[in-house]
Parts: sequence; structure tokens; C-alpha cells
Amino acid sequence: MSISNISWMGFKELVLVDRVEECPGIVSFYFKDKNGDKLAKHKPGQFLPFKIKTDDSKYKDAIRTYSLSIVSNENMYRISVKKIDGGLISSYLHDKLNIGDSIEAMAPSGVFTIKESSKNKPIVLISAGIGVTPLLSMLYEESKTRDDIYFVQAVQNSDIHPFKDDIKYISDDKGFKNTIFYSNPLDKDQEGIDYDFIGRVNTEWIKNNLPLDADYYFCGPPPFMKGVEASLLELGVDKDSINYELFS
Ligand SMILES: Cc1cc2nc3c(=O)[nH]c(=O)nc-3n(C[C@H](O)[C@H](O)[C@H](O)COP(=O)(O)OP(=O)(O)OC[C@H]3O[C@@H](n4cnc5c(N)ncnc54)[C@H](O)[C@@H]3O)c2cc1C
Repeated sequence: MSISNISWMGFKELVLVDRVEECPGIVSFYFKDKNGDKLAKHKPGQFLPFKIKTDDSKYKDAIRTYSLSIVSNENMYRISVKKIDGGLISSYLHDKLNIGDSIEAMAPSGVFTIKESSKNKPIVLISAGIGVTPLLSMLYEESKTRDDIYFVQAVQNSDIHPFKDDIKYISDDKGFKNTIFYSNPLDKDQEGIDYDFIGRVNTEWIKNNLPLDADYYFCGPPPFMKGVEASLLELGVDKDSINYELFS
């Protein structure tokens, strides 16, 4: 097996080695290098741009990017994909990509990563829905060396709550604050057990529960992003401390 952990130019063939349903509508896909070479280690928060390896002209040249949702490593990538109604590539991945199939991937890229200057202050990682993926990768990395992390996850309810156990395991182990918002809890969902708050992440809650001198990283649907950014600015959080990624 040759070793090439350096970033690559153009496209590299990766093969699907596993797929796991995280919750209804969200599947994680695990890829390795087709030739068994080492992969470039991504910076947590970065995404993998790729196209499907197929002769079907419908999918052939469609490039999409998906945040890497795994701890940074040289052996395997993981992306976690929400199936979009009528979505070309998310539907292909969910419905047609089988173990052993290939994609053609560019090297991980993106600038939504933890800044050097965040090392000396608390970090707050806030996600809504599938926007959890880049923040999860950041969480894996940052929790290795620090506990001044505030992780806030907003989802609809316990049926659509990806990575719940993973995040709970890390937060219990490392002793940092993990807060869960359900916008639409089910009858079976229990406050204080399944979730902490009903509704959305809002200005009042941020003011009372999060350190305003922290660096903030967040990702989710556009209305959520606009709301969080507006709240942080209203509360006087420095613009340089506000970092986010849009999935569009
Ligand atoms: C930096 C970055 C990181 C991303 N990371 C992830 C990730 O980790 N997991 C993930 O599931 N997705 C992620 N996305 C979104 C992903 O790249 C695709 O845009 C998404 O899967 C839709 O692609 P598609 O080919 O299925 O839909 P398309 O065929 O491109 O679009 C079909 C329809 O869906 C609408 N649509 C497109 N994207 C979205 C969306 N995100 N939400 C709602 N409607 C949409 C379009 O307006 C269109 O009407 C990321 C996007 C970016 C830019």
C-alpha cells in the first residue's frame, strides 16, 4: 500500500465501504481510497466535493459538497446526507449508491474551521438539522484537548435527531454543556431527558446560557442562520467571533 496523505489535485476514486442510517431521512456514507492509499486529513468543518462515478449522463457531471462528519483521519471519510425531496444527488446517494460503488472526489476543502484565535476562549457550536455535520467533526477534534465547549443542537424531535448518542457520550465523558432544542416534540419526548427546551434558539436563551465572549460557529437552514446571527449581533458579540457555513 502506497502512502499519500497529501492533498490531491483533481479527482480521486473513493469506494463506499459502509452506509448507516442515522435517523429517518439521514444516512451516513463511509468511503475509503479505491487503491488503499491514505487520505488527506481534513480540517474539522471542511467538506468533500465529489461527483458520482457513473455513465448515466443525468448524474455524471453533477458536483456536490458534503461536510465531513467524522473525526479527522487518514483512512476513512464519512459524510452524512439528508435526502432532499426531488434532490438529484442526495436521492442518488440514498437510493442507488451501494457498498462497493465509487465516487470521484476532490480533496477536502473549505474555510469553516476552528480558528487559531479560538484556542484561547470558549467555543460555542450551534446547529440546526443536518447542519450538525461540520460541527460534529469540530466537536470530535476540539473535545480531545478542551472542555470549554458549548454544543447546541436544534432538531424537530426524537425521530429526527442524528448523532444524539455520539454527542451525549462525548459531552458526558468530557463534562461540557450539550443543549438540545426540539421545535416539535412528539408525545413520547420528555423534557429533561430527550431534550432541554421546546422551540428555537433565541436571543433571550443565548443571553442567559452562553458566554458572549466565546467564538461562535453555527450551521443550519437559512432562517436559523439569520436568527442566530441577528441574536449574537444584538447581544454585542464581536463580528470576528461569528463564524458560519451555508449549505447552499
Ligand atoms: C459547504 C456545504 C456543505 C454541505 N454539507 C451537507 C451535509 O453535510 N449534509 C447534507 O445533507 N447536505 C449538505 N450540503 C447540501 C448538499 O451539498 C446539496 O446541496 C443537497 O444534498 C441537495 O443536493 P441535491 O443534488 O440532492 O439537490 P438538487 O438537485 O441540487 O436540488 C433539488 C431541489 O432541492 C433544493 N435544495 C437544494 N439544496 C437544498 C438544501 N440543502 N435544503 C433544502 N432544499 C435544497 C433546490 O432548491 C432544488 O429545488 C452541503 C452544502 C454545502 C454548500
